[in-house]
Amino acid sequence: MTDPAALRPALPSPLTEAADERFARHGVRLLLKRDDLIHPALPGNKWRKLAPNLTAAAGRPVLTFGGAYSNHLRAVAAAGRLLGFSTTGVVRGDELAGRPLNPSLARCAADGMRLLFVDRATYRAKDDPAVLAELLGQAPEGSTVVPEGGSNALAARGCAELGRELRGRADVVAVACGTGGTLAGLAAGLGPGQRALGVPVLRGGFLGGEVRALQRAAFGGPAGVWSLDERFHHGGYGRTTPALHAFADDFAARHGLPVERLYVAKMLYGLTVLADEGAFPAGSTVAAVVTGSPGPGDPGGPRDPGAEPPDQAAPPASR
Ligand SMILES: *Cc1c(COP(=O)(O)O)cnc(C)c1O
Repeated sequence: MTDPAALRPALPSPLTEAADERFARHGVRLLLKRDDLIHPALPGNKWRKLAPNLTAAAGRPVLTFGGAYSNHLRAVAAAGRLLGFSTTGVVRGDELAGRPLNPSLARCAADGMRLLFVDRATYRAKDDPAVLAELLGQAPEGSTVVPEGGSNALAARGCAELGRELRGRADVVAVACGTGGTLAGLAAGLGPGQRALGVPVLRGGFLGGEVRALQRAAFGGPAGVWSLDERFHHGGYGRTTPALHAFADDFAARHGLPVERLYVAKMLYGLTVLADEGAFPAGSTVAAVVTGSPGPGDPGGPRDPGAEPPDQAAPPASR
């Protein structure tokens, strides 16, 4: 059983209305695209990006990359357990090796993922053939490589289905961005008159180039209408602020939705600011993609008071 369809994802994901006066007072409807409900172990965009990559891997062992709190690593580890292929996770930060695993990495290990901790210089050089060969030498024979965050051409094409599910349903579709793979596909799948809005959670202003490169690889060139608003990273990847937590707690209470903090909360926060700025004309509909749910150790998930936030990830080398 190596076909990801065997995991019975709940697709298309539900699209629900969220009555929220912060939008209603501007005449704007807010919808929530509940990709977090696609699969309990492979939620959100992780399903959409991984499924085509796992089909291509056809049951071979998978080697992939992530930070200490990576949702992508958890999703790959869970898929390996559920579908019966072996997984290796290359983790950024060799100082983590001697310590007890944080709840996210503990979940990866419990799912059978072999964890390779590497220093930041090695992690940054992971696309170098010699570095990659050295890492593959520590993984099971015949391992296939899935890139950091699972974002490649296959992933972007998988995420185009998210856009197609939203055709005719909203004027603007907002998504939080890490590597940009989800935005690249979402924009390509939307219909005429619709646009995608990406909210990067990393600092650095490099994401536009990443999205363009992914669209070239996946679709042969620019696809759909999209833009980025770089103002809502709250300090960078893995960083949060008290204001962000207060916002997320309040949103969760209003809408009965546990709000993941590293991505989803930053996007929803950005949307409320944009609504106040008049960015959405009265009568328009904004759909917010709920790309995931709180993980182990996150607020709203099982608590881990000892967890430290990961470092600001280094922007990838420009292409
Ligand atoms: C991975 C992830 C993202 C970022 O997706 P990219 O395709 O890397 O931009 C957004 N939200 C959640 C919850 C995620 O886990």
